[in-house]
Amino acid sequence: MPLRSIRLRLTFWSALTLTAIMAVSGLAWHFTLSSSSLKHIDDRLELIAVDVAAYHHTEHIEPIPTDDCQRLEGFLRSHNWGEFVQILNERGSISCASSNLEGFHLPLSKEALQHLGNGEATYETIDSNQGFAVRLLTLPVIKGGHLFDIIQVGQDLSPMEKTLSAVRLKQALFIPAAVILFSLGGWFLAGRALAPVDRITRAVQKINAENLDQRLPLSKSSDEISRLTETFNSMLSRLKEQFHKMKQFSGDASHELRTPLTILRGETEVALRWAKEPDEFREILRSNMEEIDRMERIIENLLTLAKNEELKRNLELQELSLSDLLQELYLSGNILGEKNEVSVRLNLEVETEVTLRGDELRLRQLFLNLISNAVKYTSSGGTVTIGLTCTDDAAVITVTDTGVGIAPEHLALIFDRFYRVDKARNRNDGGSGLGLAIAKWVVDAHEGTIHVASIPDEGSTFTVSLPLAGPAEQNRDVFI
Ligand code: ADP
Repeated sequence: MPLRSIRLRLTFWSALTLTAIMAVSGLAWHFTLSSSSLKHIDDRLELIAVDVAAYHHTEHIEPIPTDDCQRLEGFLRSHNWGEFVQILNERGSISCASSNLEGFHLPLSKEALQHLGNGEATYETIDSNQGFAVRLLTLPVIKGGHLFDIIQVGQDLSPMEKTLSAVRLKQALFIPAAVILFSLGGWFLAGRALAPVDRITRAVQKINAENLDQRLPLSKSSDEISRLTETFNSMLSRLKEQFHKMKQFSGDASHELRTPLTILRGETEVALRWAKEPDEFREILRSNMEEIDRMERIIENLLTLAKNEELKRNLELQELSLSDLLQELYLSGNILGEKNEVSVRLNLEVETEVTLRGDELRLRQLFLNLISNAVKYTSSGGTVTIGLTCTDDAAVITVTDTGVGIAPEHLALIFDRFYRVDKARNRNDGGSGLGLAIAKWVVDAHEGTIHVASIPDEGSTFTVSLPLAGPAEQNRDVFI
């Protein structure tokens, strides 16, 4: 079963880690202890073997008489050595054996025999066949370059085994006790450390669209939890702002769509009730068509902006000639201007063709909005000038008109969606208040800037600056 709480996982893994560490260190300690005890025993066996050899050679000459074995026994006792001692002649027959061997013979292993041939001593652990292990040293005594006799000294390993098994038992009791205590402590500490996370979870669960004003309480310390809380709070602020924008957007959109719908309905009702002649029907249908056109435009613009809201904007970037684009737009502007008797001019203050990286369709939309606005808000006889200059890394496009201008209090708001200075008049002109919002979005997407300067009754200048290199790929998602 997966461990579902972090508290449980923390406790489990730390307890497991502790168990592993203690088991490994216990093993290492056990190994060190047993090998150092064995080393100590080996040193002692060597000491005894050398002393026995010395005693044997100073006191006796070959062959050893029986009472010499008894004297050896006395020698061992005088030193209080309880080890097993056995002396073999060069053929491997036992010459003498200490009485504590009680008939048991210390074996001469193959390995020891091999080493004897090389004049080397052998340390080995053998089974006594009497329920205990013996550490055995087989030491050759060389005289005149020949094997003279063999001294074997052995020690019962059961006292050492007893000590080691007592240590093992203590470890076996201590490790689980330590792990249990550690786990309890870890469980308690993890609980304390994670308590704020539970508090945050409960607080966040209570937050919904209706109470986005709520903020999580901040703790005094500046630890991970308080950073998490701050992040949550700033996310809530952003959510609230976006939520507010969305609400406003949908409210504005439905309001904008309701007006032409009301007109449509009113006119249709009039037609149904009063119109009799085909001309009257045609007139009403034509008027209906205008409202349908208006709704279509609004919906199209809303869709453009909605795409941006969802961050589904996919700019189709390409190297394009800005000079050519403005030439084309100048021609379209002329056609628009002719209707209003507004003259449109093009002023390219550049020596060579200006190219930049951008989305041609979107840039066309941007400049067309500015030019059609300029024509729309300029009375007959006025002028609209499209200008282009260039800096080292940006193209600067201006659209200047000699129209009605915009009062300073409206300047900051005209790029907002659905914002119109003179609502009644613009409605007749077909404006929905989305043109400049779209223009700003296109400029932002290209990582450029847009500004407006205006004097009421004298005219306005919209200035767009676009980086020639186009937007950086990684920054292509832009909010409005
Ligand atoms: P609309 O569709 O109403 O033109 P826009 O978003 O294009 O919407 O413009 C917002 C408002 O800014 C317009 O309603 C108008 O009042 C004002 N405006 C835009 N361009 C000009 C301009 N060149 N001269 C004067 N007013 C302008």
